[in-house]
Amino acid sequence: MVDKETLVHKTYPNIVSLGDVAGIPTSKTSAAVRKQVPIAAKNLISLMEGKEPEEKYDGYAACPIVTDYGHVLLCEFNYKKEPEISFPFNLIDTSKEQRAAWWLKVHILKPMYFYGMLNGFA
Ligand SMILES: Cc1cc2nc3c(=O)[nH]c(=O)nc-3n(C[C@H](O)[C@H](O)[C@H](O)COP(=O)(O)OP(=O)(O)OC[C@H]3O[C@@H](n4cnc5c(N)ncnc54)[C@H](O)[C@@H]3O)c2cc1C
Repeated sequence: MVDKETLVHKTYPNIVSLGDVAGIPTSKTSAAVRKQVPIAAKNLISLMEGKEPEEKYDGYAACPIVTDYGHVLLCEFNYKKEPEISFPFNLIDTSKEQRAAWWLKVHILKPMYFYGMLNGFA
């Protein structure tokens, strides 16, 4: 099992894990992976240098919920269930469905996944 903050394996401390395979209590999203990457990389380097892993992942995740054609509720939050906003349009009202979130989900994230992440380019 991986520590949900340091992303270091609890039994085998020379293993660092992130992303969908990590088994930590966040949504399996590239949004979460984006925040996990620097934490995992820094802690891996610390371990390789014989130091304690000190970087902590706060559990940031984003759950884009499609509610209709043209409408998405983009929920961004951390382990403490605090809103953690990363897009300017969320400043409007994160509790409401937004067309900008629909554009992000359909026209940016979908091609990014199929043509970028699966091919290893993103
Ligand atoms: C249709 C769809 C829509 C999504 N929409 C969103 C969204 O709107 N927002 C969002 O944040 N997230 C979204 N996600 C989730 C997001 O894409 C994943 O959480 C993210 O890709 C996980 O990244 P990962 O690197 O952990 O795993 P993956 O992207 O699955 O990468 C794992 C890689 O390992 C490779 N692999 C597997 N087995 C082996 C092996 N034995 N040897 C070598 N390589 C191997 C695979 O080919 C793959 O390239 C969506 C996913 C899907 C499928």
